[in-house]
Amino acid sequence: MMALLPRISVGSERLLPEGDYPMEEFQPGLFVHVGRHEEMLPENHGDIGNSGFIVGDHSVAVIDPGGSAVAARTLMSRIRQITDLPIDYLILTHFHPDHVAGASVFAEATHTIAHHHYIRAVAQRSVFYIERFADLMESTSPEAFGVPDTVVEDSLVIDLGNRELELVAHAVGHTDNDLSVYDRNTETLWASDLIFVERMPSLDGSLTGWLNVLEQLNAANYPYVVPGHGRPSAWRDAVNPQWDYLKTLKKSVKKAISDGKTLSQVLEPGAIDSAGEWLLRDTQHFTNITKAYIELEWE
Ligand SMILES: [Zn+2]
Repeated sequence: MMALLPRISVGSERLLPEGDYPMEEFQPGLFVHVGRHEEMLPENHGDIGNSGFIVGDHSVAVIDPGGSAVAARTLMSRIRQITDLPIDYLILTHFHPDHVAGASVFAEATHTIAHHHYIRAVAQRSVFYIERFADLMESTSPEAFGVPDTVVEDSLVIDLGNRELELVAHAVGHTDNDLSVYDRNTETLWASDLIFVERMPSLDGSLTGWLNVLEQLNAANYPYVVPGHGRPSAWRDAVNPQWDYLKTLKKSVKKAISDGKTLSQVLEPGAIDSAGEWLLRDTQHFTNITKAYIELEWE
């Protein structure tokens, strides 16, 4: 059991210690911080997802500020150790608090960009997330999750100076507001939570939709990927375990439904195979089964 840290007060300039916030230059000018494989808690400052930034010749794009104001401020200080270029873009990959609860720290970014359904998602869920994660946030206004001035309907290309990023708004998958970022210079897809590595994928949008999105991404043959959780890697290494898991989930839940099994029967331990070794399985697998069951029951 970790000791409880003092409550994070508004306006605090506290940063995470250097060793607690590793930063990797995965590709030239593309920096990734890999969060811990834990639940989102005050003890870990909500630092459980991947955040980072891409540097061009004249500006910087930040991708996901992180799960708390402290984590986001730490990211900001890391950016400033590396470059003085202006932060022209804050890109919010989807509305999950572990990725965006620290967004207010980057309120000065010239543009804040998100999927066109992001604002609706904030309207639907911000009260719930603020109640749960107020200790991690700088303010208790829905604006703390960022205020996009640019929304992506389909796709959008931004230029950081000899460095074009292609942003794509996906159909419902991990959530209904997933935005990916492709760095053309390094052929790296920042997929965020469309790809989970090591940690069990968390289903919040549509299982069938997510499998379709994976199919499309796979056809594009991206060499490298930055997942939303876990280490960046070659695309193939990252996608296969998740694909197995989601396909197995769909197949087994569908079969259980056609066999007339109730939701409580499919939630019995071992009823639905969790396909592979996953961290945080105990908390996530049953949530995924429940969501899959509700979705597939109507298919
Ligand atoms: Zn997510």
